[in-house]
Amino acid sequence: MSNVGIYYPLGHQAHQEPDHPERPERVEAIKDRLLADGIWTAIQQTQPVPVPDSVFFAIHTPAHLQRLEAIIAAGGRSDEDTYLTPSSLDIARNSAGGAIALTNAVWVRELATGFALCRPPGHHATPEEAMGFCILNNIALAAQSLIEHGAKRLAILDLDLHHGNGTQDIFYRRNDVAFISIHESPLYPGTGAPEEMGEADGLGLTLNIPLPPFSGDAARDAALKELIFPFLNRYEPEILLVSLGLDAHWRDPLGYQVASTTGYAQILDQLNQWAGEMTDGRLALFLEGGYDLDAVGDIAAAAFNILLGNQWEDRLGPGERPESPRWEVALKRVKNLWRF
Ligand SMILES: [Zn+2]
Repeated sequence: MSNVGIYYPLGHQAHQEPDHPERPERVEAIKDRLLADGIWTAIQQTQPVPVPDSVFFAIHTPAHLQRLEAIIAAGGRSDEDTYLTPSSLDIARNSAGGAIALTNAVWVRELATGFALCRPPGHHATPEEAMGFCILNNIALAAQSLIEHGAKRLAILDLDLHHGNGTQDIFYRRNDVAFISIHESPLYPGTGAPEEMGEADGLGLTLNIPLPPFSGDAARDAALKELIFPFLNRYEPEILLVSLGLDAHWRDPLGYQVASTTGYAQILDQLNQWAGEMTDGRLALFLEGGYDLDAVGDIAAAAFNILLGNQWEDRLGPGERPESPRWEVALKRVKNLWRF
């Protein structure tokens, strides 16, 4: 048994709505692939902990919780995208509690690294609003839990197709959690311009890297080397938390990025090596989006293999549509702004 952890959200299937892309099969496809590849039995299962009130209310407002409870009691939905079933709040709390448990275990070195298969996802959830399929902000709650355990500087890197607007909002004025997002633009939720760089104590600690449609592995690798690593090296976080959205894959139906499993794996491999040198190996991954079942299974298997130090494979290959070079202009704009 390795000391790589997984959080699997037991009972998450009750949070579902017919024909909605954010469906239980997303996580079950990952579990099936991990079982088939012999990874499931090589990693340590992490049990969720209750989310402490002090952590919860440092991230979300009491009004957010009251609104969720009222909507569920009335049988409504949070917004057009975001459904709520009678058990959705409990399942969201479980998802956040799994993220917290896994992160705390990595922090105290009970686990070397890990990947929390959070469902529902979290990165669009703001302090006061559930949106974009997200109810509670799992990665933000995990970060806050570490602050309570004495962490002083954390970095969150968001690799999802979409801008992590909720996570950005939560930490925008704080200097204990830096936030980096690479995302397709224009696309939902419409935020994440390069000029959004934080405010007050958080000024200069939010890095947004929007990429045009049909950007892929080359764009994301260049962003990592030319912007993200310089930013992280300057901030010197004690741990790196990654919002691992899998919807930038070329097969994903929700956007127009053309990243491959190989591209994802090479980024995760570099992040893992960087963490080995800079954070004593402290690295934790959290599932966000990703709506093609083959792609989510393929990337998740590669991610675990990298954490385990195993060889990984890309069973899906590159997409038919080549990567557009338009990302070079987009990246240059961000570099000029930051003077990297
Ligand atoms: Zn997404």
